[in-house]
Amino acid sequence: MDLENIIKWCKKCELYKTCNSPIMWDGNFNSKILFIWEAPGAEEDIQWKPFVWRSGKVLTKILEWIWFYRQEDYYITNIVKCRPPENRDPKKEEIQACSPYLLEQIIEWKFKIIVTLWRFSMNFFMSNLKISQDRGKILKLNEFNWHTFDEDIYLLPSYHPAVALYSPSKIDIIRKDLEQLKELREKLF
Ligand code: SF4
Repeated sequence: MDLENIIKWCKKCELYKTCNSPIMWDGNFNSKILFIWEAPGAEEDIQWKPFVWRSGKVLTKILEWIWFYRQEDYYITNIVKCRPPENRDPKKEEIQACSPYLLEQIIEWKFKIIVTLWRFSMNFFMSNLKISQDRGKILKLNEFNWHTFDEDIYLLPSYHPAVALYSPSKIDIIRKDLEQLKELREKLF
């Protein structure tokens, strides 16, 4: 069974009981650039697609300003694939159950750049980072979940685009962070 079907029928944690369906991913898996959020929200759960609601639209727009298009230039998914009730943060046991799927995606599709959106997904990869200090930095990720990667993977933490809905000045900061992707992509691919 392929990963999509495995996730579709997954009952490894309690979240399958309260979500409509697991939300898989979207974009180009050959792009080598992966964006990660923590979990699907209410609208994603209805539309069965990640990053479709207001903050997802802000992110899509910022990326289009820098000529990055979802179906060509990047791929997007969540740490846990099922929506937690009331949009709460995923619990430790839910992350433990679901994160092997993410690791499988990273290895199988050989992502070289991972962009984390907000503190939760950033600390999922590197627990010692602080969003106020480390946002916008390009960091090397050598291992994850006890798996050592064969090739270097780069981590770029940024803000969650939802912050731009309440504080429009953050749009420029997110854009500046993400503009580094072009140079990094040229250097790596
Ligand atoms: S969140 Fe992940 S581990 Fe939990 S039921 Fe959904 S797909 Fe399975």
